This record gives sequence, structure tokens and C-alpha cells, in this order.
Amino acid sequence: MLFALLSACTPTDTADTAGDSLRTLATCETNIADDVPAFFQELYRCVDVVLASDTIVVSTIDLPPHPSPYYAETDPNWVAFDDQGGTHFHNPNELSEQAATVTIPSTPTAKGITITAEMVDLEAGTSDEEYPGGDGVGLDGTVLFAAMAAPGDDIAEEAQTFDTWEAHPQNTGIYHHHGPTPAALAVLVDSGWATTSVPGAAEIEVYGIMCDGTVLLGCTELNGAAPDATDFDAQGGHVHDLVASDGTTWFAGRYHTHMCVGTYDHIYTPEIQYYEGCERARP
Ligand SMILES: [Zn+2]
Ligand SMILES: [Zn+2]
Repeated sequence: MLFALLSACTPTDTADTAGDSLRTLATCETNIADDVPAFFQELYRCVDVVLASDTIVVSTIDLPPHPSPYYAETDPNWVAFDDQGGTHFHNPNELSEQAATVTIPSTPTAKGITITAEMVDLEAGTSDEEYPGGDGVGLDGTVLFAAMAAPGDDIAEEAQTFDTWEAHPQNTGIYHHHGPTPAALAVLVDSGWATTSVPGAAEIEVYGIMCDGTVLLGCTELNGAAPDATDFDAQGGHVHDLVASDGTTWFAGRYHTHMCVGTYDHIYTPEIQYYEGCERARP
């Protein structure tokens, strides 16, 4: 229904489905309603975003707007796998178009928990406070997974199957990130917020948002300032106003995590939900 409504006022974009032509930030379709928060208006691409009562609904087809070896070989976006000097290998999966939605509370409610090192063990099924899976959406419309491997697996080993955009598909074709990615920063470069998409070197580093309202930042705050890490919890998270470079507060008193490889201990997406509720749908 939602898609039908949006389609009615948007010309059909044939570049927005797999396999037709090269999918880029310039060709992917973006439909962001005027009443959603500035964070989405200013930073997001290749998604549909609407406000629905007290939630923000982000819908995505999860096809990365850049080349990937996980596209089908027949797809214009396919490239050969880069083993990055022999450290990486292609997993057996192929990415595919999804119909995923993430429904984020406009005003998230904190669970009131303290996120400790015991809870952040990078393994699924070890805490009731973990994200359930398929948990967020990045600035380029690709899905974000919490930083957990399936029981018995190791997230650091899984990372060896990432493409050069630090992502890979799981067994049903959902292409997803678990950490910092040049793909989100490329959106910031395209929109003029940063001049480089290299994680750790961009003027501002924003990666996305999780289903519960947790915002994912990198080595900087939203306005480019250096984070004060003294109050970080075990997944690089803390609470303060998120103020954009123009001085406007985009989120007041918002929990967010900082992913900054080589600087902070926790280098992945969060594992534990700070806020209540995680509503998302996928096939
Ligand atoms: Zn994964
Ligand atoms: Zn911060």
C-alpha cells in the first residue's frame, strides 16, 4: 500500500531494480517525506522515509548503489572479488533485492540498562538485551546488522568475506554491514558533508540508525567534533545532543555509538539495544 502511494506520485524509475542499469547514488530512487526529521532529510539516499504517527518508517530494497562482487555476475553492478592481498574470500551467497522496512520510534524510550563488557560478546543468543537481527539501515539504504555472529561463529572471521565496502550478503541475499563503511561516507561526500569517504578521515562520520533509535556515528560527532570517550559504554555508546554543523540539534539527548577502528575498542555496530522495541520487516 505504501509503495503504491509513493509510486503514484513518483515516476517509475527503471534503474531502481536489479539488473537493468548501473545503480549509483545518482540513479537510485529516494523519497523522503517533508515532515521526517532532518537526520533523514539531509543524510539519507536510496530509501523511502515517511512519518507514521509516532514512528519513522524507512523502506529499502537494500541494493547497494555501488559495485559489489556479491551482485549476480550478469548485473551491471557486478565486479570481481578483491581478496585484498589474500586476506578476504567470497562467501557462497549472492545479494538480492529486498523489501525491508525499519520502523524507528520518533521518541525512543531508554530501557535503563547499563551496557557492560559481559553483554557485548559479539555472539548472538547470549543476552535478552541483544538486537534481534536485521536491525538498522545505513545512509545508502543498505541494511545494518548488529555486531553478532551466529552461535559458534566468529564475527572477525565473517569479516573476511566483506567486499571492499565492508559488507556481504547472508544466506537469503540480504546485503548488510556490521561496522564502518566507505559506502555511507560516500553519501556524505556526494551531499557535500565530507570530502573523503575513507573511514577515520572524513570531516563528519555518520553511518546510519538502528531500529530502536540508536544512531551510528564514526570517529566524529555529528558536527565533526572529536567525541569525548570518557563516558563510553562497552559498545562505544553514550548519550548527548546530536548537533549538526549548522548548530541545529537533530536529536536531543540521544544514545549513539561511535565506531572508529584503531581508536575505540568496539569496532562494530552495537550489539545491545539501549532503547525499547525493535520493529522491522523483511521477506
Ligand atoms: Zn554479516
Ligand atoms: Zn558522541
